Amino acid sequence: MARIEDSPWAVSVAQVASRPGQSKEIDETFPAPSGIGDEIVGVDEGADVSVTGSFDSIVDGLVLTARINAPVHAECTRCLKPIKRDWTVNVTSFFPYEDASTNSNGKSKDDEVDIIAGEDESEDTYPLLGGGAWADLEALLRDTLVEELPLQPLCKPDCKGLCSQCGVDLNEHPDHHHDVTDIRFAALEGLKAKLEGKE
Ligand SMILES: [Zn+2]
Ligand SMILES: [Zn+2]
Repeated sequence: MARIEDSPWAVSVAQVASRPGQSKEIDETFPAPSGIGDEIVGVDEGADVSVTGSFDSIVDGLVLTARINAPVHAECTRCLKPIKRDWTVNVTSFFPYEDASTNSNGKSKDDEVDIIAGEDESEDTYPLLGGGAWADLEALLRDTLVEELPLQPLCKPDCKGLCSQCGVDLNEHPDHHHDVTDIRFAALEGLKAKLEGKE
């Protein structure tokens, strides 16, 4: 098995772990984990994801409070133009200390992780690894970014979209219209004139 410190997402927290009231600043860039979104909306694997914040130690674990910034690629839902934009997400996650008796035993460590995850799914909780000396941010980055991906991205809030008849981009051609509309309009004008007895 690969060593935790070789993971590109490993952050050493040994200096703050197990001593309540300590704080460790984090300001690092990590490669985006795989599996965030898809071709349409997502973050490319390996893209620069920055994490800025701090690990703060409390009695039973570490709390990570951070701002995550990642480049999201998407497609405007109205005009289908590609969008490339930095996405910023604030996270608060908890890394509980493992029970001291399970530190040396890999199997029961995994069991404990499952139990913790099952106990409280509403809180973002991740395991500390390597006897509590490392926090691995891979799963946290993936979970957080997947959750925050825009469902209906727009290139701009007032995107006019495409012409429903011919697909022309109405942002670039604000005066675009079809003659069909004019004919109907003319017919309405004629009807109006009739109704008003001007025939
Ligand atoms: Zn658009
Ligand atoms: Zn058109």
